Amino acid sequence: MRFRGGYNILLKGKPASAVTAMPEPKVLYLPLRSERFTFRDIRVKNGQKVTGGDVLAIDPDNYAVPLLAPRTGTVRLKAVEGHIVLEDAAQLEEHADIAAKEMLHVEKEMGAAGIKRYKLLSLGAWQFFYDAFTGALPDPLGTPQAVIVSTLSLEPFLARGDVQLHKRLLNLTRGLEHLQSLLEYQPIYLVMPNISSEFANLIRNQIRGYASVKMLEIPLKYPYDHFEILARRLNLKPGGGPVWAVRTEGVLAVDRALTLTKPCTVRIVSIGGMGVNLPTHMKVMPGYPIQKIKDKYVFERAARVINGGILTGKILPAEMLGVDTECRGITILREQEEREFLGFIRPGWDRHCYANCFLSSLRKKFREQLNTGIRGELRPCISCNYCEEVCPAGIMPYLIHKYLYADLIEEAEQARVDLCVECGLCSYVCPSKIDLRKQLIDAKALIEKEKEEIRQEQLRQEEARKQQEEARKQSEEKTE
Ligand code: SF4
Ligand code: SF4
Repeated sequence: MRFRGGYNILLKGKPASAVTAMPEPKVLYLPLRSERFTFRDIRVKNGQKVTGGDVLAIDPDNYAVPLLAPRTGTVRLKAVEGHIVLEDAAQLEEHADIAAKEMLHVEKEMGAAGIKRYKLLSLGAWQFFYDAFTGALPDPLGTPQAVIVSTLSLEPFLARGDVQLHKRLLNLTRGLEHLQSLLEYQPIYLVMPNISSEFANLIRNQIRGYASVKMLEIPLKYPYDHFEILARRLNLKPGGGPVWAVRTEGVLAVDRALTLTKPCTVRIVSIGGMGVNLPTHMKVMPGYPIQKIKDKYVFERAARVINGGILTGKILPAEMLGVDTECRGITILREQEEREFLGFIRPGWDRHCYANCFLSSLRKKFREQLNTGIRGELRPCISCNYCEEVCPAGIMPYLIHKYLYADLIEEAEQARVDLCVECGLCSYVCPSKIDLRKQLIDAKALIEKEKEEIRQEQLRQEEARKQQEEARKQSEEKTE
């Protein structure tokens, strides 16, 4: 299968490659929720002193993935709703909160590979792993059919793989070796840009000697780095078992956890977008105060803060005070305050249009400014077909939109809404500014819910049938 659709989005506000180490904060606000995790099982007491690497809470629904203390400090549990606050935070030597007794147990049960998996989970490296098909956290004890390692991050403005890797090539190769040691014969696909840069060539040379690491070179077009798209491109099928997927930072975390047995509590997070002074990358730990980041980088009075990239990120709620454990980037956009009447046909040199109908199509490629208005207002679908052209999943978003508008959910299902990977390109190029991505996500959730209800009903019926059968047998036995 070849890549389909995709689009090279050029926007101003791209984070520079430099990494800034942010000043050490006195207080950390660790959110108890992130995109995939809810750390609802709190493991510390109010006022307790903790050291960097201690387990503060776990997510019992996700293989007990831990929320680790990134620094030494004093725990405050009820100071801020939905957060664990760490006061008097200080950077001392972190240690690994691994119970030796449990390690012995794991070793007895599963051998050396079991210990490695246990370490990855308890030292915070497993949080960087995804199931390529579902995006969920994979089972750390499971066996994948393949592993996809992506060095790319193509959504504007997320932290880039080349930045993560700067001066850490050795850590990448060691991380890959560790990953290989968790597998038997399953391949590791290393996803690289199909460009000839000095850095890309360096990685290629470094990887050449690894038999089970296969290179997959892809064009730099969003969203070809999407794990589900990559898995489909590699002809991996959901029925063949899980496909683990991990980005550069995850492999570096694997190296840190397994080579040094140290907790993975620091991240490189990007800050980009048109509302930022000097878009860049920052070295921060989960819980880092958002306000401190805003004070340093955001100059716009009316700015929208997005947790994640421009197309798939979510508006950061005002009540969230710290960087969460999964944050890969913060995007700041200038809030469009005045309504721009018929903005979509406003000609000009300064705006891109997928339709090439703006004067700007006469210019050479350039980076466009983007605010929250994105240009124009919501209008009906004009059947221009652009959403279908860019869709990497090969579905027809406009058709599904029309089915959903007419409440024809079964037809939407037949049109394979399930294949949508939620990349958001359709919404981005749509000249009518229809939020197709959201509509498709909602439809997928609705279909899934209905299927689940049917499954539950079938289970209930099956249970009732078994009970009746049991009762019948018992009454027959009594009569005999
Ligand atoms: S969000 Fe879904 S429908 Fe829209 S372009 Fe991406 S994969 Fe296609
Ligand atoms: S891009 Fe928008 S207007 Fe064009 S066909 Fe798709 S939904 Fe309709």
